[in-house]
Amino acid sequence: HYALEWLDAWTVEDGSARAAQLFAEAFDAQPDGTWSAPGRGNLIGEHTDYNGGLVLPFALPHRTYAAMRRRDDGLVRLVSAQEQGVVRTVALADVAPGAVDGWAAYVVGVAWALAQDGCAVGGFDLAITSCVPYGAGLSSSAALEGSVAMGLDALYGLGLSADDAGRQRLVAACIRAENEIAGAPTGGMDQAAALRTRAGQALLLDCRSLEVEHIPFDLAADGLALLVVDTRAAHQLVDGQYAARRTTCEAAAAVLGVETLREVTDLEAALGRLGAPGAFDASGQDPEVAVRRVRHVVTEIARVEEVHALLEEGWTAEVGPVLTAAHASLRDDYEVSCAELDVAVGAALNAGAIGGRMIGGGFGGSAIALVRTEDVEAVAVAVAQAFATENFTPPAFLVAVASGPAA
Ligand code: ADP
Ligand code: MG
Repeated sequence: HYALEWLDAWTVEDGSARAAQLFAEAFDAQPDGTWSAPGRGNLIGEHTDYNGGLVLPFALPHRTYAAMRRRDDGLVRLVSAQEQGVVRTVALADVAPGAVDGWAAYVVGVAWALAQDGCAVGGFDLAITSCVPYGAGLSSSAALEGSVAMGLDALYGLGLSADDAGRQRLVAACIRAENEIAGAPTGGMDQAAALRTRAGQALLLDCRSLEVEHIPFDLAADGLALLVVDTRAAHQLVDGQYAARRTTCEAAAAVLGVETLREVTDLEAALGRLGAPGAFDASGQDPEVAVRRVRHVVTEIARVEEVHALLEEGWTAEVGPVLTAAHASLRDDYEVSCAELDVAVGAALNAGAIGGRMIGGGFGGSAIALVRTEDVEAVAVAVAQAFATENFTPPAFLVAVASGPAA
């Protein structure tokens, strides 16, 4: 028998109180307010965001909480319960690409990016705490950025969080914080999920037009559940691998003469051109590898459309095999899976899951399994047993319910 570890979400009241308490301890004062933003799951659409493609994420009930107080001297003092509770101080005037290291970069990066966008923001004291699993592919980074963006919006009266157009500007600031100040070349899915989702709905985001559609996403009504497995595997080289995938996609788009791989309409013709000898002379990409990378991206965008159509028809269970096909594509063509993710998906399918795949950037992090409600426990036990057999670190679990956006 295995004692399964379930990752429970805090209530908003509890999370806010925890952040306010940390603030009072660290700064010997009360915060002006507390804001929060969710981690995310992603039903389908992986490594498509930076290719101008489609994604279908949803907000988790797990959130990051930011207690904040405005300061008028341009300084940011920040503390996080997840980072030893040590107070750091950064002057906003010193923030620039490459100038701030560690977790503070995600925070001051948001203020920097909003200022770049013409918003009059200044200093603040900040206490962070979170129940979003850390570095688990569930986007604790965008939850952190989103909570800070909401706080700055309120403290400096920006009014951006009031409507979706304003939230798009907050999303853009969070993306710039992560890309340019924290130095992580991620796409924009996570930040949009943190700020533009709706409770009970998944977010169909077109990463080319930035248009969204809210898709009703209530699996329980169909007797289904989405089990998330945090594999606890955090592999090195992740950032380098992610950047390498992006570079290959950009080089392939250049060879094809398109702005992004979203523009590819005839996959076979495109793969033929990319695989031709000498196609990549200038950028030094391996044509055989590039062909597989592009095949993943283009088929993955098609899978998002397929899942969208299935959900519209109410054929929720039919989504399962599409998830499993996505996993094979991520594992074999995009090569971003790892042993823990493959074991999690394989064990879930063997135990009766109707589909499953890795989510997030890969090389560790989390997997999802679409399961009948009555099979949740048995599938989780099977995954935990498979991990024990492989001598992996025990995984942790949560059942994803589409929750509300940053508030
Ligand atoms: P993921 O977004 O999948 O959880 P990332 O590597 O993108 O993983 O982001 C994790 C990083 O974000 C952490 O290493 C840390 O720098 C920052 N971060 C996220 N949540 C917090 C938090 N609660 N407190 C401090 N830093 C955080
Ligand atoms: Mg992240």
